[in-house]
Amino acid sequence: MAGNPLLSDRDVDFVLHDLLDVGSLCRLPHFRDHSRETFELYLRSARRLAREVLYPSYRAVDEAPARLQGGAVTVHPALREIYPQLVALGTIAAPRPAEVGGQQLPHVVAAAADLYLMAGNLSATSFLGLTAGAGHLLESFGTEELRRTYMARMYSGEWSGTMALTEPQAGSSLGDVRTRARPTPAGHHLLDGAKIFISGGDQDLTGNIVHLVLARIEGAPPGVKGISLFCVPKLRPEAGRLVPNDVKVSGLIHKIGWRGFPSVVLSLGEEGDCRGWLVGQAHQGLAHMFQMMNEARIMVGCHGVATAAVAYQESLEYARTRPQGRPLASRDATRPQVPIVAHADVRRMLLRQKAIVEGGVALVLTVAHQADLAGHAEAPEARARAQRLLDLLTPVAKSFPAEWGFESNALAVQIHGGYGYSSEYLPEAWLRDQKLNSIHEGTTGIQGLDLLGRRAVADQGAGLRTLLEEIGSAAAQARQAGVDPAWPAAVERAGAALAETTMALAKKGLSGDAEGMLLHSTDYLRAACILVVSWLWLKQAAVAQAGLARDAASRPFHEGKLCAAQYFICTELPDLERLLRLCRDGEDSYGRMREEWF
Ligand SMILES: Cc1cc2nc3c(=O)[nH]c(=O)nc-3n(C[C@H](O)[C@H](O)[C@H](O)COP(=O)(O)OP(=O)(O)OC[C@H]3O[C@@H](n4cnc5c(N)ncnc54)[C@H](O)[C@@H]3O)c2cc1C
Repeated sequence: MAGNPLLSDRDVDFVLHDLLDVGSLCRLPHFRDHSRETFELYLRSARRLAREVLYPSYRAVDEAPARLQGGAVTVHPALREIYPQLVALGTIAAPRPAEVGGQQLPHVVAAAADLYLMAGNLSATSFLGLTAGAGHLLESFGTEELRRTYMARMYSGEWSGTMALTEPQAGSSLGDVRTRARPTPAGHHLLDGAKIFISGGDQDLTGNIVHLVLARIEGAPPGVKGISLFCVPKLRPEAGRLVPNDVKVSGLIHKIGWRGFPSVVLSLGEEGDCRGWLVGQAHQGLAHMFQMMNEARIMVGCHGVATAAVAYQESLEYARTRPQGRPLASRDATRPQVPIVAHADVRRMLLRQKAIVEGGVALVLTVAHQADLAGHAEAPEARARAQRLLDLLTPVAKSFPAEWGFESNALAVQIHGGYGYSSEYLPEAWLRDQKLNSIHEGTTGIQGLDLLGRRAVADQGAGLRTLLEEIGSAAAQARQAGVDPAWPAAVERAGAALAETTMALAKKGLSGDAEGMLLHSTDYLRAACILVVSWLWLKQAAVAQAGLARDAASRPFHEGKLCAAQYFICTELPDLERLLRLCRDGEDSYGRMREEWF
């Protein structure tokens, strides 16, 4: 579709203002220089750039991926035109404080703008997203010297950044990182090792690339407690100029999606001269890196929502314009065909897409909003409460868009019928892009283990209790607004069931049966995703129901919201009970299954 809007402005504005009231953030001292107008200005510029510049280049970038020649990666020429425009918008440091060159925008506003940019062209925006996270690591843990030399140039877009964690034997299992770091009397370390899948690990867009590398200082204890974080530039400043730092690109991954964004194999220290500077404390590298990983998980959630959203808009337009068949009640072949949106089954698919996409928008923006409150709310208790929710919801914000988003992207292919299965149409490309989101930044399996094994039971379930309180107030608001009372009742029941199951599983874990506790952790994660998105649909339903009575002109929008809320709560939420039963009863088919029985 030539004029794909990428996302519905009306929906994004609804979430920002009607649901989250982001304007009230301007009352907090940290955001006092902002106003609803400055938020709008930033968002408007992002929308325009996404629609007029990024999206029109998407297909060309997908069709001609980055190339590796003579040890250097060349990106698609369109990206060289786009990159400076994204930098000029200020996306890299949008939420960072003014004193480090940022715009001090709330994360929630920056994330809303990112959704458009990502939906326009995911590869183009990814260079900046990683640079933001890597720069923030230096801002939080780097020495003054590192911040001055690297962070400032990263935030300005002159240099880019990467996260270099993964090694061939250490993917999900980061404790097995082997890259070595030998201290030198000069203060830096000499690194040697290999990193794989490093996104943005080489490109010809920026004058330098700053890798944030996990490595093990000689003599460090095994496992995660022996990992340190290093700043390893591609080119290091020396006597007033930049010289190669013995970081070689030894391979380019041939990816099925995100094809404009090169992921490479890096070889560090082949010539014994790869210098790295310690970031933060020795052996605390993974703990420091968790700052970037948590941010990146929310960013991946935004990728997932954006990729599902652009495909939803495409299938919506297709369904409105593709004539095929006639209504069930009228098979008269002399009558003209109807557009496929007239068929209930096509509306089923579209409504599922809408429920996933708009539920996802509400989810990632809610989580970004909690990040703003956790950092800047005035009362310490308000900050602590937001932090609890943020910690609990991060794996959900990463996994719901990835998993449900993939299903939504598959529906976009389905709605296009045979044309969807052809590369002449874009839904197949977005399906390929979407698949990565359940793999990188910790696979869905790892998110499930993290949620159930750590976050849901941390501090005796404090995060979960906070979520239940939120559900309780959304239910009260929905009842007061006149929403069908069956919906709040169902969401509250589901919240209580998840809490009860969590307690039972935690007991199992405490009794020493960790395997039994975590056997169904992916099912638990799915149940948590369904609960959280149902809560957010209930909140949206309450606002929409109140809007119906107040605002006749917005009736179609609010009716659409209520149908999508009904869809999610009445057709997706019931699956939670089945998933929790699996967790509680410990259904053990794959627990018992042995490798040799396959
Ligand atoms: C396109 C792309 C870009 C990437 N970009 C980066 C990057 O910029 N920087 C970076 O450092 N890394 C990057 N990665 C690496 C990515 O984070 C890893 O691929 C991911 O963490 C999984 O590791 P792995 O590929 O080794 O798979 P494995 O860890 O081998 O996992 C294989 C399967 O086993 C499951 N599994 C593994 N361990 C467990 C366990 N303990 N319990 C249950 N299930 C388990 C996984 O869920 C998965 O389904 C990228 C990967 C890709 C594909």
